[in-house]
Amino acid sequence: MVEPRPELSKLSDYVPGKSIEEIRERFGLDKVVKLASNENPLGASPKAVAAFHEIADSLHLYPRGDAPKLINAIAKKFGVKTSQIIIGNGSDEIIDMVGKAFIRQGDNCVGITPTFSVYKFTTLSNGADFVGVGAGDAKTSLDDLASAINDKTRVAFVCNPNNPTGLYYSEEELRAFLKKVPANVLVFLDEAYAEFATAPDYPDSTKLLAEFPNLFVNRTFSKIYGLAGLRVGYAMASEDVVRAMWKIKPPFDVNQAAQVAAIAALGDTEHVEATRAMNAAGIKVLTAAFEGFGFKVLSTQGNFICVHIGDLAKDLVNFLESKGMIVRGLASFGLPEHIRVTIGKPEENELLVALVKQWVKG
Ligand SMILES: *Cc1c(COP(=O)(O)O)cnc(C)c1O
Repeated sequence: MVEPRPELSKLSDYVPGKSIEEIRERFGLDKVVKLASNENPLGASPKAVAAFHEIADSLHLYPRGDAPKLINAIAKKFGVKTSQIIIGNGSDEIIDMVGKAFIRQGDNCVGITPTFSVYKFTTLSNGADFVGVGAGDAKTSLDDLASAINDKTRVAFVCNPNNPTGLYYSEEELRAFLKKVPANVLVFLDEAYAEFATAPDYPDSTKLLAEFPNLFVNRTFSKIYGLAGLRVGYAMASEDVVRAMWKIKPPFDVNQAAQVAAIAALGDTEHVEATRAMNAAGIKVLTAAFEGFGFKVLSTQGNFICVHIGDLAKDLVNFLESKGMIVRGLASFGLPEHIRVTIGKPEENELLVALVKQWVKG
């Protein structure tokens, strides 16, 4: 047998949210609503969809791997240099590239837990150890995370707001943490949900890049921009860090359609605003409903809520699936008693509330 690298024995498969197709087939349903993967319920920006159609004539051409138009658009929006930007086939690939560029066998990486599983996956697959700090649904103190850093630490992963809890760190907390972290440790700040954050003290992290050359700000087009299916993510960091990333970046990973749609999406502030407004209203409705049923709802800065259901969380997830409503059970995140619900359109939220009510009564 061809033996895989020994590091692979420590890895478990990524557990994605269930797909609409899967649930439709299993329960023989016509209509299925998915509130499980934090996708934009309004879909992609109509401008992005138009841009996508327009490039259909040039599918035979390779994309430009250096994506100058997209990178310029990002640089302009955030006021950073183009040489400070890297893009990837989703930010998942950016995490993977960070692993290839910076994590060595025998190193370690630290991260708040529970959190997005890809950080640990990348760490282990590069032969390093992952040290998770925190447990349950409480917010991990960044002081505790800083204390876990030692001379073998290469990357500190902080997801803000955090997936799956929705909890966030303020600019003051982040700055205090950055001051404590040694300059040779990359701080991977995952801001996949930053555009949804409404807290006035949520960090303006790109402004911190000049002060902290080890800061790495990760963003994505998958969430508020509604382009999860096209796969495009981007990140901003110091020029030295970005240069190292380009060396290991697959040359044509961000395809043409993704590039043009991302540029259009970035410019569609109307769609972003509509999404944000609908999200804020949905958080209120769903939080009140779950609290009304007696469940604890964590306060969120994302486009999802994390709800403590208790021992029967899995049962609720199964019940909802059988009725054509997909939410995310959080056992694979280490929170077996919680569920994560993506904020949907008003009618989707109402349907969810009606189904939960049915389950609670039954
Ligand atoms: C969804 C998500 C991503 C993945 O984004 P892609 O750009 O679709 O790969 C990254 N980080 C977090 C925390 C996420 O929840």
